[in-house]
Amino acid sequence: MKVLVPVKRVLDYNVKPRIKADGSGVDLANVKMSMNPFDEIAVEEAIRLKEKGAVTEIVAVSIGEAKSQETLRTALAMGCDRAILVTAESRVEPLAVAKILAKIVEEEAPGLVILGKQAIDDDNNQTGQMLAGLLGWAQGTFASKVEIADGTATVTREIDGGLETDALKLPAIVTTDLRLNEPRYASLPNIMKAKSKPMAQKTPADYGVDIAPRITTLKVVEPAKRAGGTKVADVDELVTKLAAMGISKS
Ligand code: AMP
Repeated sequence: MKVLVPVKRVLDYNVKPRIKADGSGVDLANVKMSMNPFDEIAVEEAIRLKEKGAVTEIVAVSIGEAKSQETLRTALAMGCDRAILVTAESRVEPLAVAKILAKIVEEEAPGLVILGKQAIDDDNNQTGQMLAGLLGWAQGTFASKVEIADGTATVTREIDGGLETDALKLPAIVTTDLRLNEPRYASLPNIMKAKSKPMAQKTPADYGVDIAPRITTLKVVEPAKRAGGTKVADVDELVTKLAAMGISKS
């Protein structure tokens, strides 16, 4: 079975985002970019399924600016077999990403697509669900465990009240949650080997997908600054201060 893993290049999760002076978005000039953390978990899961013998080939896909090929090389160094880069210099919204992925699914016929549950740049949490809708496939979102056997993916999902386990008939869509696994680091020999793994270069037009935005971002602002805290000497002082603020036990 072939697995498709879409990976997005995003602002590194350790970098504090700076808002552009005109409020039009986050300033991405000269900042560290990395693979979306949930996508690293998706790549790791696909590799583990291959190591267990449930998967024969892993294809990583990224849609975005040409530099997304660095993200794809990371996926190849971790253990993906080949990559598809769909270059688009402007922002591509989840619906357009899902439409492009649906076309790639048509061409590649994978048995499973594993995506991150959300990209940490725009926090949309939409692409996997939209792709499942477009393909008419079953979806197991926020997966914390995935098992493949007899044409079925058994997916344990993190829900409010605890854990839910679903059986999905393959082909299916899975989106990863944080506790699914701990992604491996690529070793130096694997980084070197990844340089010669195949990477196809495409454009949205190759798939007949119009990526013109449907959403207008009106304004992006920084979160409100926190008011400074105060240290209190003991519980009595805390209770007195709370009482002065009108907060009491009853
Ligand atoms: P989102 O719906 O934007 O929060 O993204 C959810 C998941 O969809 C991500 O974790 C990726 O697996 C995938 N995805 C979203 N945008 C892209 C993109 N431009 N290229 C590749 N994969 C993407």
